[in-house]
Formats: sequence, C-alpha cells, structure tokens
Amino acid sequence: MTLTNLLAGNLPAFVCVGLLLGLLIGSFLNVVVYRLPKMMQSDWREQAREILELSDEPPAAPFNLVLPNSSCPHCSHEIKPWENIPVISYLFLRGKCSSCKAPISMRYPLIELACGLLSAFIAWHFGFTWQAGAMLLLTWGLLAMSLIDIDHQLLPDSLVLPLLWLGLIANSFGLFTSLEDALWGAIAGYLSLWSVYWLFKLVTGKEGMGYGDFKLLAMLGAWGGWQVLPLTILLSSLVGTVLGLVMLRLRNAETSTPIPFGPYLAIAGWIALLWGEQITSSYLQIAGF
Ligand SMILES: [Zn+2]
Repeated sequence: MTLTNLLAGNLPAFVCVGLLLGLLIGSFLNVVVYRLPKMMQSDWREQAREILELSDEPPAAPFNLVLPNSSCPHCSHEIKPWENIPVISYLFLRGKCSSCKAPISMRYPLIELACGLLSAFIAWHFGFTWQAGAMLLLTWGLLAMSLIDIDHQLLPDSLVLPLLWLGLIANSFGLFTSLEDALWGAIAGYLSLWSVYWLFKLVTGKEGMGYGDFKLLAMLGAWGGWQVLPLTILLSSLVGTVLGLVMLRLRNAETSTPIPFGPYLAIAGWIALLWGEQITSSYLQIAGF
C-alpha cells in the first residue's frame, strides 16, 4: 500500500499528517512574519538610495527567509534543531532561551499551534483531495499576511498576488467555483473596496484602508468566486467592529489609530469559503425568502 493510498483511505491518518505539517509550517511562518517585512524595508531603502543617487551602502550579511540561522535576540545564541521543534521545544525550554534564560514570546508556540489545528481542520473538512491541498496553501498564506498586517499595517504583494493567481489556477480546474465566477470575483473584490476607499477619502479626507486590502479581497474573490464577496465584507465589518471596539477599550487609544483591516478580511473570507453557502441559505431561510 502506497502512502497516497493510505492517506486517501484513512481520514484520521490524513488529519494527523495535516496537524504535523501545520505545526512545521507554523514554525516557518514565524520566520516569514518576522523576516519578510524587514527584507521589504531594506529593499525599499536600497531603491530609495538608488533614486536619490546616494552612494551604495556597504553590502550587509545575507538576510532572507533561509539565512542567517535563527538566534536568540538577546544573546545571539544560535537556535539548535532540537530547540526548534514546534510547541514541544517551547514547553521543554519552559519558554526561556537555553543560553541566557531570556523569555521567549508565547506568540511563537501559539502561532504554531494555531497553524497545526487549522491545517488539521482543513484535512478533516476536505479529506484527501486537491481542495485540501489548495486550501492548506491559502490558510497558511492568510495566516502569515494577517500577522504581518497586525505588526506592520502591511499586506505584502509577494504573498497576496501569488495566491490570487493560485486561486484562478485552482478554479481553472473548477476546484471551488467556475473560472468565470473566480475571474469576476477577483475584479469585483478589488473594485468594491477601491470604490469604498475613494468614497471615504472624498467625504472625510482620510484614508480608511490600504491598497493591500483591495488586493486581498480580489484574492479571496479569485478563490471563492464573486458569490463569497458580500458575506466576506459583511462578516469582516462585523468582526472588525466588535474586535475594534474591544481593542480600543483595552488600549484606550484614540479613534484615529489605524486598525489593520486585513486580518478581518482574511478571517471572514476563510469562513465564507468554507461555509458561505450554508450561512447564506440559512440566513435567507430565517429572513423568510
Ligand atoms: Zn538568549
């Protein structure tokens, strides 16, 4: 019996593989979330110096998603492979650097755990199918871009745009919807938030969201078709309003503090992709249509 046969015929085994894979990917996403914005910033800096015709800076040590190896930010102790096992290493080290005993943020194991559980859920929901594979990639991408948006108010094109194309490719095989619906989903997704942005700007003179949000909604439309857009916008506003009010209370911040919209769109779009039809039909039933 080959591995694919085993996974296709045994859902619990596939869910376990999803969980383990998700934990490992979660560990990698921690690296992406930390390093990708820094890579983008140094790239912009270099471009700006070029435009301003400033002399080149001396070449820095390579810094990308692979190099250098992860190290403790306090004592530069290089993290050994056994200290890098998702969740388990954190528990084993009791949340402290093995060298200088500086505390390690809870955030890292929590993200690994969240990624593992979400991946296991996708495996269980779709079974051993192409849909599961595609949805895993989307889920990991959404998780990474949400965290980057929370940290930096930034939705990297290098994550959003490849996933937009991937959604169109997946639907050229009809994985989630027809290619035509996916195409119009991408177009309508972009234009709807683009219009809201300009309307808001014309009326208030302020910028309510960023271009990254338009691209993100275009990407979600490319995955689920235009049909998922109304529910995605509705849910994201709902989640955004509730969480936004809670956070304003907690932070006691001014109302003009920018709150990234990307994570709400990501959560809402993910839910709409998985349960959009059920939510809409039960809503229509309750509303009496
Ligand atoms: Zn240390």
